[in-house]
Amino acid sequence: MTVSPSALEELVTANRILAREGVVDSFGHVSIRHPDDAGRYLLSRARAPECIEADDVMQFTLEGAPIDAGGRKSYSERFIHGAIYQARPDVHAVVHNHSPSVIPFGITSTALRPVMHMCASMGTQVPTWDSRTNFGDTNLLVTNMEMARDLAAALGDRPVALMRGHGCVIAGTSLREVVFNAVYLELNAELQMKANALGPITFLSDGEVEAVLATRRSFTFERAWEYWCRRAGRPYDFRPMEGPLAGGH
Ligand SMILES: [Zn+2]
Repeated sequence: MTVSPSALEELVTANRILAREGVVDSFGHVSIRHPDDAGRYLLSRARAPECIEADDVMQFTLEGAPIDAGGRKSYSERFIHGAIYQARPDVHAVVHNHSPSVIPFGITSTALRPVMHMCASMGTQVPTWDSRTNFGDTNLLVTNMEMARDLAAALGDRPVALMRGHGCVIAGTSLREVVFNAVYLELNAELQMKANALGPITFLSDGEVEAVLATRRSFTFERAWEYWCRRAGRPYDFRPMEGPLAGGH
């Protein structure tokens, strides 16, 4: 089943933005569920996100089998995406990264919690998945469906899960939302570490997180996306999501 050129270009743009904003480096990836087939997802061939072109985007079954590889090598950790799409019908985009400021929170007992309004989308409970718990000593990579399903179970119905000694996953209803949340997750982690050096932190309350998310509109994602497109040297394509366009700030 073919995919529209605009959907492929949108995924390329997401890769370039995540690279430009320091959320991914040579590693890390972002996928979308196939727009016309919920049993497939779209993900680049194994390549650094900064370098990805539309021709690199491949289709996979939710079990991680490439539909038409055409000689292209797949990411060894592609299973992460399919397992989350299987477990979460509401999810249409997934980011996996090794976002540098987030890593410390996966390897210590300090919980990653929202310190500012723009970062509220991580929610108030960010779980940490430890591959060692069920799989013992590994190279930490999620290279099969069994590990990926275990990670998806740890994520549950939440938007973010940390991966001990490795990175994190961000799941959401749209590509622009997960890119937004991935960028602001990295920022929150950096700010939380800085604030912690100064003294005890006042985090957003559960009620404040709820209020921020209840009033966030697609305008917020669009303003960020246009800005990040400019920084990444990519064309901006206005795509309002469902709901009113008011409410941004
Ligand atoms: Zn990884």
